Amino acid sequence: MEKERYPTAVVDGFTLGMFVSYGDAGDAWVEAPGGGIATLIWETGSPAMFGEATAPDPAGQWGTYRVRMDLPLTTDAEAETYLRGLLPEIFPRWHAWAVTRSTRNQYQGSPREDGAPAPADAADGQARQTAGNNLRIGFVIVVVIAALTAAVFGIQAGVCPPKAAAAISAPAPTAVPTAASPKASPYFPTPGHEAHLRPLGFPAPLPGKSDSYAFLPGGAAGQKFVAYDPCRPVHYVVREANAPAGGSELIQTGFAELSRVTGLKFINDGTTQEAPSDARKPFQPGVYGDRWAPVLVAWTSETEYPTLASKETTEGTMLRLGVAGSGTAGIRDGRRVYVTGQVALNAPALAETAAYEGQPTVYGSVIAHELAHLVGEDHVQDHEQLMYPTRNGHLSGYAAGDLTGLAQLGQGPCAPEL
Ligand SMILES: [Zn+2]
Repeated sequence: MEKERYPTAVVDGFTLGMFVSYGDAGDAWVEAPGGGIATLIWETGSPAMFGEATAPDPAGQWGTYRVRMDLPLTTDAEAETYLRGLLPEIFPRWHAWAVTRSTRNQYQGSPREDGAPAPADAADGQARQTAGNNLRIGFVIVVVIAALTAAVFGIQAGVCPPKAAAAISAPAPTAVPTAASPKASPYFPTPGHEAHLRPLGFPAPLPGKSDSYAFLPGGAAGQKFVAYDPCRPVHYVVREANAPAGGSELIQTGFAELSRVTGLKFINDGTTQEAPSDARKPFQPGVYGDRWAPVLVAWTSETEYPTLASKETTEGTMLRLGVAGSGTAGIRDGRRVYVTGQVALNAPALAETAAYEGQPTVYGSVIAHELAHLVGEDHVQDHEQLMYPTRNGHLSGYAAGDLTGLAQLGQGPCAPEL
């Protein structure tokens, strides 16, 4: 007797495999991009149905689902059709689960929650503690990946599920793309907006060699770093409320320098009313049209954006001057690419710091530091680099290690499928 080989398929980054099959029913698993697993209790038959047997668990699987479709599931080709038919139902559920997980990962004991002062601070030549002013100056990075984790659907231009998808009954799926409106999707824009075949620029030559740099996590297994697509421009908008005098120029100068050292092309789309949020959506067609939302740069405060809340430490109050990060989408080979991000600048804390130091250069250096986070650079424990977590007042711009990392971050994979 021949040993049965169960069908398997991969569609848009989701893999379907079988625990057990009885031909017209069985138990299967679906692995999402990035590795999460859901279980399917499936049948071939009618009427079509879809239901949740076990809710997604932020600490475990992204759910167990019962599904019945009038589609066979015995060969690999049939498995592909079956999985494609399921995606309109399971993608939003996986997406919601992934967002929850990424938020948990960020805010629960992440080592990058760096309000904790590094002992090396005392050596940065800028003692922050003075009588009557127990002030510590700190950068903080919290990677804003929440709500930006998905969008693997964008791999296929004009995603169009088979008719079977429309036959699935309750609960009602979110908008299902149809042949008449192949672009309709609540999760991702029409792929390829402004995508070119070659990088739009190249990083400036490095002034020196240094290994004192690090990349933010968030890539696929084995991926050295996550970067923006260098083959299309990165747009940004500025929320100007609370901005200091000359704030717009400071941001433009920061992006110009970032472009020079990465080769990435940035385009200023002007102002926005959008407020910073850890739940910012990467695709906001009602506000920004059919493209990934532009990077948001916002002058804000800890009142409006509590992620910037100052932190009490044994050595005093640590101000969080800025927070920045970007969110990713998956591409064809499983790697992740940044699609948009957010830079939140703590205007009151920056003003306080500038007044304390007696000069305004704090603005430029904090913006440069946060913009490096935006494109994927992490902290280093080298206080002669701008990516040191706390401010070193005598550094006015990127140092050799910062630049070495940034040059690589300008040369990530092109991703026209997004
Ligand atoms: Zn930082």
